[in-house]
Amino acid sequence: MKITIIAGARPNFIKIAPIIKAIEKKQSKGTNISYRLVHTGQHYDKNLSETFFEELNIPQPDANLEVKSGTQAEQTAAIMTAFEKELIQNPSDLVLVVGDVNSTMACAIVAKKLNVKVAHVEAGIRSGDMTMPEEINRIVTDSITDYFFTTSTTASENLIKYGANATHIHFVGNVMIDTLYQNLTRISPPQFWDEFGLVKNNYVILTLHRPSNVDEEKSLIALLQGIDKMVGDKKIVFPIHPRTKAILGETKLILKNILLVEPQGYLNFMFLIKNSFAVITDSGGISEETTVLGIPCFTMRTTTERPETIKIGTNNLVGTSIENLTLEFAKFLKNGLSKRGIPELWDGCASDRIVAVLLTK
Ligand code: UDP
Repeated sequence: MKITIIAGARPNFIKIAPIIKAIEKKQSKGTNISYRLVHTGQHYDKNLSETFFEELNIPQPDANLEVKSGTQAEQTAAIMTAFEKELIQNPSDLVLVVGDVNSTMACAIVAKKLNVKVAHVEAGIRSGDMTMPEEINRIVTDSITDYFFTTSTTASENLIKYGANATHIHFVGNVMIDTLYQNLTRISPPQFWDEFGLVKNNYVILTLHRPSNVDEEKSLIALLQGIDKMVGDKKIVFPIHPRTKAILGETKLILKNILLVEPQGYLNFMFLIKNSFAVITDSGGISEETTVLGIPCFTMRTTTERPETIKIGTNNLVGTSIENLTLEFAKFLKNGLSKRGIPELWDGCASDRIVAVLLTK
């Protein structure tokens, strides 16, 4: 079996790493399975791309479509145009896409129109928020997917509601957590750890990159100033996403506690998360990692496509206002964590299950 694996953006790299390892494990036992790795070039900063290939030992891509940035339509169209040529030149039995970025949707459409089967890893998750580009990518991708791999029974149920054939849905667990477990012994403090005088369990991690939080410069500044005041004497490490950095531009912010740093590589970032007091974020992936590590997480969004991180895990959905975040953070300071647990099958073996299913197809 010949598989084309698609990766375009930071969270994709983290998701494909263990799938490739699982395929290579099978290859070493003589199983007839091969893969071609296609990087669409959606993320191209060293910090968001190359570093992850190096740190997670992902092989160099067989092809890089180098699409880079653009509007939603420009980027999607550029990926489709380039991937169509790539797939015609390099035929494959199956195209495997992960997550919910533009590359996921664009490559799924191209594959399906060339009559190539599509497998979607992290299928079926839904926020219900159609203003998120990711939600549209999820719905379109799942509407043409042949093999669905889900992280939760809720995601599997969503697919059934949308009319997917139950025999094509495979609840396998979470590949993001495979990567987490595979690398926990390799995580290490960033260079600035000593320089900033960071102390385990006494600092907060902040990440923000969703349009709803960062696209309006004035409200982003107000949010940062509010968070800066809220945490008392704790430091806040803020690895700033290029999108957020571009909005702030040359603005000089006077922030007492917030330390602005470059986006971190996986091994430094997971060290920072694992040893933090709490995390404030609008990332979906990070709320999964904090759930498994038992770190309190405050998600600055009004919806989530990962309800298990709230029902079972340490995630709190606090909306996008600083007032509500401050209220919920104060409650946590007073009462501590109210719950902690690891969702079913988030056990580090999802990629092995995926490859086992693919080999039956
Ligand atoms: N991440 C990282 N360095 C950072 C910020 C995030 O390694 O400075 C990792 C993080 O651990 C998670 C993934 O990137 O695994 C999440 O990516 P992002 O927030 O960009 O995407 P989302 O999860 O919101 O789709």
